[in-house]
Amino acid sequence: MTIQTTIQKEDSMIVQKEMIAGHFEKLAKAGETGKKVVYTFVPGNLNELIRAFDMLPVHPEVNALQSGMRKLSGGYIQEAEKSGHSEDVCAYVKSDLGMLKKGNVGPTGLPLPEPDLLLLSYTGCFTFLKWFELLKAEYGCRVVMLHIPYQAEGKITQEMRDYVTRQIEEVVVPALEEVSGKKLDRGRLEDMLASSARAEELLVDIWNSAKNKPSPIDAYFGGVFYIGPIFTAFRGLPECEDYYRMLKAEVDDRIARKQGPVTPDGEMSQQKYRIVVEGPPNWTSFRDFWKIFADEGVVMVASTYTKVGGLYESGFRHDPKRPLESLGEYCLGCYTNHSLPARVKILQDYIEDFDADGFLINSIKSCNSFSAGQLLMMREVEKRTGRAGGFIETDLVDPRYFSAANIRNRLESYFQMIDARRAGA
Ligand code: SF4
Repeated sequence: MTIQTTIQKEDSMIVQKEMIAGHFEKLAKAGETGKKVVYTFVPGNLNELIRAFDMLPVHPEVNALQSGMRKLSGGYIQEAEKSGHSEDVCAYVKSDLGMLKKGNVGPTGLPLPEPDLLLLSYTGCFTFLKWFELLKAEYGCRVVMLHIPYQAEGKITQEMRDYVTRQIEEVVVPALEEVSGKKLDRGRLEDMLASSARAEELLVDIWNSAKNKPSPIDAYFGGVFYIGPIFTAFRGLPECEDYYRMLKAEVDDRIARKQGPVTPDGEMSQQKYRIVVEGPPNWTSFRDFWKIFADEGVVMVASTYTKVGGLYESGFRHDPKRPLESLGEYCLGCYTNHSLPARVKILQDYIEDFDADGFLINSIKSCNSFSAGQLLMMREVEKRTGRAGGFIETDLVDPRYFSAANIRNRLESYFQMIDARRAGA
């Protein structure tokens, strides 16, 4: 059974599911409608630009996570391993390649179109490069790379902004013009960026709602649904704004009623632990994973994973007055493009701002980008905040690396640690 049939749904969740299903339908019909297709990754995606050319985006890692939720990824990973990809390769990549080998039928059961362009915004994860090299070998289509300088010093300089803006202007836009056969409509792009900024504002309000006690949202398990439209195919479109308005109204209603988030078993009655979480979730056993925490009365009040496609609380908004520059700034600011010291500071701020009892790292076996340095981060965050840090290990979409029993064991001692610190305080 999949998450879509087992988790209690709110109206916004149903709307989002329909939006995603509609997008996959458009992709399946791209051959008939003549729509051009751009494959691109979530962190640093240039959705407004792609959409301004009437092109349709495909996000390979979203297909992989959806395949994980639908229990399809295990078979795809085995298929990729049979053709020589090692056990240590990012499981998203293997799920995507396995899906391709098995006919490229997407997670909703509809065929996926081939890409007309592979648009690689390089935001801090080396795997992105290798992944598109493999897709280029399969499809033989054009690749455009937008190189995003790493935020090693923890800040974006004007040189970095100029460097990225120039590439968008001189490399990315001309490539999109050639592939789509259209000139860039700057007015249309600006309207989309204004819409993005409005949706971003709403999303920040939604994240901040977790400062309430009880928190009306779970910023991780619920949060992964909240980021769906804005991090993928819809940012810049009116339906994206509508979705966040609807979601905010639901959250405001829960605040007024002093209600917690909806969990796999319905309303959470008592919030015993407020936790900040670092790292992506496990998708193959998502419901069981969430339930382990919900059963213990854990509410996740902030999460770094739900910022991979934009750290909007830091103040960044897409800006129609500086269209290409703000697109570049967006890419530079993605969570995957931040250094370890910056990530430590983000976690520290979350713990303090959201008055968390502790923080938890879900270390992902096959995601080197997120996992490298996490133990060091844990020690440093503990030192700075005095709050308890917990460490568990799972994988994204490889079902061989999820053990509910191991996680429960680790968490048992983790919650004891939090209780002991509370008693000491
Ligand atoms: S290694 Fe991690 S960040 Fe990179 S593509 Fe895989 S899951 Fe994404």
